[in-house]
Amino acid sequence: MQNSKWYEIAALISHSLDNDIFETWIHPLIPVDTETDDTLLLAVQNQFILDFLEHNYKDMIFSYAKKISPSIHSIKFIIKKNKAPVLPTEQTPTSKKTSFPQKRHQIHTINHNYTFDLFITGSGNEFAKSVSLAVAENPGKTKFNPLLIYGGVGLGKTHLLHAIGNYIITNLPNCVVNSVTSEEFYLNFIEAIKNDNAKLYTDTFRQSDVLLVDDIQFFAGKERTQEEFFYIFNTLYQLGKQVVLTSDLPPNSLKGLHDRLVSRFQWGLCVDIQPPDLETRVAILKKKAERDNLTIPENILYFIAENVTTNIRKLEGIIIRILAFASITKTDVTIDLVKNILSDTIKKEPSKISIDDIIDSVSEYYHIPVNNLREKNRSKEVAHCRQVAMYISKMHTNYSLKTIGLHFGGRDHSTVIHAVKQIDKNKEKDKILSNDINYILSQIGN
Ligand code: ADP
Ligand code: MG
Repeated sequence: MQNSKWYEIAALISHSLDNDIFETWIHPLIPVDTETDDTLLLAVQNQFILDFLEHNYKDMIFSYAKKISPSIHSIKFIIKKNKAPVLPTEQTPTSKKTSFPQKRHQIHTINHNYTFDLFITGSGNEFAKSVSLAVAENPGKTKFNPLLIYGGVGLGKTHLLHAIGNYIITNLPNCVVNSVTSEEFYLNFIEAIKNDNAKLYTDTFRQSDVLLVDDIQFFAGKERTQEEFFYIFNTLYQLGKQVVLTSDLPPNSLKGLHDRLVSRFQWGLCVDIQPPDLETRVAILKKKAERDNLTIPENILYFIAENVTTNIRKLEGIIIRILAFASITKTDVTIDLVKNILSDTIKKEPSKISIDDIIDSVSEYYHIPVNNLREKNRSKEVAHCRQVAMYISKMHTNYSLKTIGLHFGGRDHSTVIHAVKQIDKNKEKDKILSNDINYILSQIGN
């Protein structure tokens, strides 16, 4: 196929892809002349890009190529390292090039407010805090290596991870601390591959005395990144360097991560953080209010803590809202004011939603009688709506799978799990379904 055809195809693709994606993956492709018209041969810089294109964009490129050149039957990628891409529009690689730090440099964006001193403990997190402190005092020298902290959103995983970092930076200034989120690692790593300095980038991590990686669940499905991380991990582990990781799920439940990586994560200690109990929530609120010079009466602190049960970030957000409200209106913080500020949050708190409310809302939304959702009716339409109701019940209440199953005609927990998985999967692809669920959620209890 002639080179010039590729530019027409690329132009067509550029209209349907996000600019960044186009610039990253399609623009750099170099067409290679072939003798026959049935093959489109495209040169890429390296194996990683080749694999990525094969998995993600080959079919799409093919469908556009067909539009321009119907005789085409296949697309092939080959690796050609030397030549820069030549497309009509000029890319500016120099401005994009990231230069990665030199030897033994530290990469970290540690939040200085996340310290052990500011971390309030209660039964749900005190073990996690004490092992974190032990690791911070003796990095690489305890049995807790790697240390993996896992737990739900907003429960203090990042806070503890950074507290370890802050402690070490202050008390062991010669220690090289590197801290990244797995998302940053992934994005920078890809960028480094494109700029041919992947080794420089990953070497920085290999030279850590302490490596902190936040939200490792994000590595799921990212094969090449996991592989690289695996090597970094092994190097550090063999050298007795400290690795601390966080994740939103226990390692065994992390889908899309290689077994060899998951098993290494378990070599040291995995510790979970549970939602704080009432007293801890009140203590956290007090601390945050104090920090913001806000005086909130005890009964109001309890009112907030009773209604916001699962997420400390939310508790913080409420203090900020009260602060804003009180300073603008120059009024005292009263229970009515707080009720008003909290009205939407309280409605959505899991403990306040009952499965019956959910069934009512789903029934109303899909115009299906409540009894059909509760009984063993097997029509396809009802089954789908029932799955939606089970999904919402699992995600937005604290009821057990067993209890949820009992509300839907005595189904067992595996049926509920199946429903949750099914809807979770479909929701990703199906915008309408995901909007339906959001709408139903907004209507619950109204
Ligand atoms: P996660 O990483 O688990 O999603 P974060 O560490 O980001 O949660 O915590 C969310 C917010 O709640 C942060 O601002 C953090 O400082 C605060 N926070 C979490 N746990 C505590 C705690 N035990 N004491 C004080 N603040 C906390
Ligand atoms: Mg976090």
